[in-house]
Amino acid sequence: MNAYHLVVRGRIVLETGVMEGELGINDGVIQTISPTQHLLKGVQVLDFGRSYVFPGLIDAHVHCYTNPEEGFRSNTAAAAVGGITTILDMPYDSPDPITNVERFEAKVQLLEKESLVDVALWASIAKGGAEQIKPLAEAGAIAFKLSTFEADPYRFPRIPDDEVIKAMIFTREVGMVIAFHAENGELIESLIAEYINQGLVAPRAHMETRPPVSESVEVLKLMEFAYWTGAKLHIVHVSHPRTLELIQWFQQQGVQVTAETCYPYVLMDVNDLERLGPKAKMNPPLRERSDVDRMWNYVKAGAFNLISSDHVPWDLSRKEAGKDNIFSAAPGLPGLEIMASLIFDYGVARGHLTPVQFANLFSHHPAQLFQIAAKGKIAPGYDADLTVIDPYAEWEIDERQFQTKARITPFHGQKVQGKVIHTIIRGCTVYDGKQIVQQPGFGKFVAGSAVKGKTRSDFVSR
Ligand SMILES: [Zn+2]
Repeated sequence: MNAYHLVVRGRIVLETGVMEGELGINDGVIQTISPTQHLLKGVQVLDFGRSYVFPGLIDAHVHCYTNPEEGFRSNTAAAAVGGITTILDMPYDSPDPITNVERFEAKVQLLEKESLVDVALWASIAKGGAEQIKPLAEAGAIAFKLSTFEADPYRFPRIPDDEVIKAMIFTREVGMVIAFHAENGELIESLIAEYINQGLVAPRAHMETRPPVSESVEVLKLMEFAYWTGAKLHIVHVSHPRTLELIQWFQQQGVQVTAETCYPYVLMDVNDLERLGPKAKMNPPLRERSDVDRMWNYVKAGAFNLISSDHVPWDLSRKEAGKDNIFSAAPGLPGLEIMASLIFDYGVARGHLTPVQFANLFSHHPAQLFQIAAKGKIAPGYDADLTVIDPYAEWEIDERQFQTKARITPFHGQKVQGKVIHTIIRGCTVYDGKQIVQQPGFGKFVAGSAVKGKTRSDFVSR
């Protein structure tokens, strides 16, 4: 028997359960799964003992260029250290959002120069730009993200209802997901004006001016649009259990709607916002403890399709701007580097989630939803993307060690059980538990389903 390029041993997390076994890998692809250890021969052998070998974790919600001082280099380094092997990068780049093919292709070139992990790209549309959906799909977009809330009229616009319906029809025609940031601007803006008028600008005001109904009412409308258009609707960063319950009702009606929450919404509550202020500010906001407990119960029950980070690497200055007035702080937190370990700790290490459920949330389900053909499970023929977590390692989160210049997290100083000790992408170690061992440009572009069948070189020369 010929030796494999690489043999990986450990507690291997398959779709059906955990198996103490080994994997035979050639040319970056999983060839063989053996339930017996020390059977396969390898040029290189990595024996992870009692650690879990997960399929490479996918973070479906990352903002590498919201803060243009960061970018693919630092953010994908953070991903590698955090055990994330593929990111889906959001289109709300500063200064110019990804709303046409020219910008999309420039971003592909940039990621192939700068990235350490594999990257798929979301696209968006400008107001009046729904016609761009088909060309962007053909250029390789992984999915489309729109907003019902106007954070910025150019970079992050509110798309009006008539155009949302058009966009849903176009995405249905190309068979792709359309996702929404769903918050109601009229409710939120009038509440913020009222609060500022009365001088109510302490951290808690951020939650009170974005009440649960400002999220749920927009999700409700979008699901009704999806009912009539047949679109594949995805709701990002669900922050409240009421929203999830409405999603479940529409799922029972046959609407194709999926739900994502982000790690802060199941680990922190509004008391953390009051305690930490801008450091714990994000949109939508953290909720009451009783709501967070219900969110976690829904995660355990498998009601959420996936958990993402909604990683936004703001530096300290953008947070300190809100020291005396929470409304002046930038919303969003970094998360790529710590999300997997935090959810492993709270979920798997404490017995709330099985390793397979963890793999569902971070690999199996996101790969299925976004139709990423060669990723998302440990099976023959799939990319050898592997995230190794030592379930016994105890450590403390230290924001000063972060790979991004954004060295802030509300989880600073938290003790965690379970640590990412190795990150492998296409059969190559990218992070060995101590340092990053690949160069920027190692990461590859992951094209969306509309270009299935086209090879990467076809894409580049198109
Ligand atoms: Zn986001």
